[in-house]
Amino acid sequence: AAPISLVLATGKLARRGIVLKEAGALERLAQLDLIVLDKTGTLTEGKPAVTGASALNGAPNTLLRLAAAAEERSLHPFAEALRESARRAGLVLPVSSDHIAYPGKGIEARVEGKLIAVGNAALAAERSWTIHRASKSFADPRERSGETVVYVFVDGVNTGAFALSDSVKRTSKEAVEALAGEGVRVLLATGDHPGAAAKAAALAGIREVHASLLPEHKAALIRRLQQGGLVVAMAGDGWNDAPALAAADVGIAMGGGTEAALDAGDMTLLRSRLTGISESLLISRLTVRNIR
Ligand code: ADP
Ligand code: MG
Repeated sequence: AAPISLVLATGKLARRGIVLKEAGALERLAQLDLIVLDKTGTLTEGKPAVTGASALNGAPNTLLRLAAAAEERSLHPFAEALRESARRAGLVLPVSSDHIAYPGKGIEARVEGKLIAVGNAALAAERSWTIHRASKSFADPRERSGETVVYVFVDGVNTGAFALSDSVKRTSKEAVEALAGEGVRVLLATGDHPGAAAKAAALAGIREVHASLLPEHKAALIRRLQQGGLVVAMAGDGWNDAPALAAADVGIAMGGGTEAALDAGDMTLLRSRLTGISESLLISRLTVRNIR
């Protein structure tokens, strides 16, 4: 009976756009104690919009032109949002080179002979760059209300900031409720700052939140949670989630995510809806019960 149940389960999952890499993942999912959800692109749409700008000298569009050019190579949702905002403003972007990404912090590149960096306070701290008082007063109320602010640095001098906002997926709350109803503990893990993390968590009904995490911290969190024998799943979409997806007992990649996440996961949600996770959990529990 076992193989038939598995075939049926695989078919049920496939009809919901859920692809399993190996049958073992279904059995581990049935035993699930706890799931860690990434924020950007997993709990949220991952299509942030630029909601504000603060330029210290010159027009906001001058700042946007440099920032968007420096973000040319980045796959991060914030990079796409800045490029999209520049496109809408009709800006023609200058050529950029020497791109470097700092996971969980930001990026830098050379544009018109200057070193342009875009990132958060952790990027500034690492380089010993100062965030201007005007940028801080731009950031504070926005971060408190759940938006994210990234700072722009030109040759190490802070010249302004952008605010970005992303919305929680319509199905996220329903998925969190269904998982909790099955006795699964749900945690949020993000590289974003505590204000944005708390807002997204509240909207989705998640009470345990870990913010300002670097990619290696996400994987360390998974390993720590696994101690004591708990079966832990991780859902994510970014290449920064790949180490945590690989460390988890069940790694769940969002279909719209990066190649690195898809490779590291044990299963893929083609439709990127988190209700795919609660549906898989129910299917896995019914299937494993039938096999035993
Ligand atoms: P998450 O865990 O929510 O997916 P990330 O680890 O991708 O978040 O990013 C954490 C933080 O690092 C972002 O909130 C942002 O401040 C900064 N960051 C990362 N990449 C970029 C980028 N390309 N441009 C600007 N800021 C970035
Ligand atoms: Mg993400």
